Amino acid sequence: MQYPEWIWQNGTLKPWADATTHVMSHALHYGSSVFEGIRSYETPDGPAIFRLSDHNRRLFASARIYEMDIPYSLEELNAACREVLKKNDLGKAYLRPVAYRGLGGFGLSADTPIDVAVAAWQMGAYLGDGVLEQGIDACVSSWQRMAPNTIPTGAKAGGNYLSGQLIAREARRLGFGEGIALASTGLLSEGAGENIFLVFDGALHTTPVSAALLNGITRNSLLTLARDAGIEVVERDMPREYLYLCDELFMCGTAAEITPIRSVDGRQIGAGKAGPVTRRIQELFFGLFDGKTPDKYGWLERV
Ligand code: PMP
Repeated sequence: MQYPEWIWQNGTLKPWADATTHVMSHALHYGSSVFEGIRSYETPDGPAIFRLSDHNRRLFASARIYEMDIPYSLEELNAACREVLKKNDLGKAYLRPVAYRGLGGFGLSADTPIDVAVAAWQMGAYLGDGVLEQGIDACVSSWQRMAPNTIPTGAKAGGNYLSGQLIAREARRLGFGEGIALASTGLLSEGAGENIFLVFDGALHTTPVSAALLNGITRNSLLTLARDAGIEVVERDMPREYLYLCDELFMCGTAAEITPIRSVDGRQIGAGKAGPVTRRIQELFFGLFDGKTPDKYGWLERV
């Protein structure tokens, strides 16, 4: 990977190589970080960051769950994101704000300083070249998501991604593009780093926030765009076998955008390629960035 030149750390822009942290930082040992993944796109009106404020609001919400006081305001973090893009001359990019417990105590409940950084870099399709068109082969993971009242899945916290790593690494090791996890109830939850949508009879079905998942901003955007386009949407619990029975299936997330799934556990889904509803949802979503879908909700925040 070619690293960009500048990174924002604790209020100042620094060369990438200088944005370091102490090896005894709390987060490195205990997973005590919260972060976001945000994308910027080139649009006919110049570069824009998709739902920047909503992402950073979720960062503050994740921090709140872990009693971390981020020493910046929402406006300051939004400004840091814009600054990093501008300084690195990035148009279409992936942004990564992170806040974490730094150096200042080794006890689990230590009130260390909260360090904050924002990086940005160029990133193509997260699950591989060509996957947005061709789709991926997925599997159901042997790892379940965290049970309720263990580790909150509604927080986007570093420690949660131990679960994501087990799911993603197992899938890749077995030759699949991505893994889909079940909740501790045995019902469908989400992908390692993506929410999931199933299509039945032209309607979109997605798993509810009670199914041990991260309440994705892409998921929320697609539910809104689909409703506005007259597509029926349903949030509900679903059993594993619905993956094998649905007409179409796709994953969504900031990194994965809208990635069709052509098979699960070796069983072909629909025609084994992106179906008409998936393609329509892709059109509506990507249309936000080429001006074909009106930005009704002010989701495009200018750099
Ligand atoms: N679930 C998990 C576990 C994720 O890591 C992500 C990516 N942030 C998502 C869902 C999708 O969330 P979003 O659309 O907000 O990126």
